[in-house]
Amino acid sequence: MAEHDRRALGRRLTELQVHGVVDPAVPGNPGRRGGAGPSDHRALSIDGTTVMVPVYNAVAGSSPYRLDTAAGGGLEVSGPEAMALAVETPPEPRFYGLATAEGIPYRSIALLHGRDVLATTLLQTCIRFRDRTQSCQFCAIEQSLEDGRTLVRKTPEQVAEVAEAAVRLDGVRQLVLTTGTPNSDDRGARLMAETAAAVKARVDLPIQAQCEPPDDPAWYRRMKDAGVDSLGMHLEVVEEEVRRRILPGKSELGLERYMEAFAEAVAVFGRGQVSTYLLAGLGDSAASIIAASERLIALGVYPFVVPFVPIAGTPLEAHPAPSTDFMVAVYTAVGDRLRASDLRSEAMAAGCAKCGACSALSLFEASP
Ligand code: SF4
Repeated sequence: MAEHDRRALGRRLTELQVHGVVDPAVPGNPGRRGGAGPSDHRALSIDGTTVMVPVYNAVAGSSPYRLDTAAGGGLEVSGPEAMALAVETPPEPRFYGLATAEGIPYRSIALLHGRDVLATTLLQTCIRFRDRTQSCQFCAIEQSLEDGRTLVRKTPEQVAEVAEAAVRLDGVRQLVLTTGTPNSDDRGARLMAETAAAVKARVDLPIQAQCEPPDDPAWYRRMKDAGVDSLGMHLEVVEEEVRRRILPGKSELGLERYMEAFAEAVAVFGRGQVSTYLLAGLGDSAASIIAASERLIALGVYPFVVPFVPIAGTPLEAHPAPSTDFMVAVYTAVGDRLRASDLRSEAMAAGCAKCGACSALSLFEASP
């Protein structure tokens, strides 16, 4: 695809990601509500690119875009200016039909994200969540516990069992492990290492672990030796005032502490195998996001910029998503800087930046 077409597609996908689509329960993998990270969305494939598009939050309910059956068969997203975009919804994965010997449905242990990513939240609770004045204001990590959709804690053996089935039955190509932050100074790294070791003993699947920076940098080596291929430590937002407002608890770990942790992690995992989420639209200026991305790229960390998507039931559920123009300006600047660097989303072993479905950044990063 020519660069101009790729960026035009990037703008179009961004438009859908910031507005969401009205979805009258079209068949296919229904996606997910609540939980950790971006949520309330489902996967749509457009022109061969799979993106996660909000369908369950308040924004999507009043979106000018609508997912429906096309007159000639298939599916389409229709919207303003007589737009009609052919889309596909990935089918429900086959492993969703299975359960463990104790009767726990596999889909309570891990979910399919995008087209070929298995993802799970190892610990569905977080030290920061019980007190909503301390929790990350966009997060819904404990919400999916309320109606029994998931388990509080997934054991390494459970994740390994589901990973093996997802590879065999659905061709899953990578595993993303995230976690709520436990009350221990490894900040989840131990859980990541134990789970990666159990998975790798059963199936050869690239793994990204995601956690807060552990106090002891020896955990990076322990995670890598256990089978973690890439690491995500998520800044989310970067300006001091925005960090305090959006991440009241997590911002106790200052930006400079994160930068130090990134350098330590890159020394173990290598340039381009460490990444961070940057949620655009929560108050950081475009200039701040671009400057932080430049600094991260210099350290060897992939800045995975995604539009903030409000999740129902969180303190930010009524916070507006960023505009398409804002996102495209940030993507264009960060994409240019990535292109001039040695970092590429597709070169990551595993992880959100490699999957890319929550962002259009990779369409702006790719070389002509
Ligand atoms: S980018 Fe990350 S959170 Fe988004 S669909 Fe892919 S693996 Fe899941």
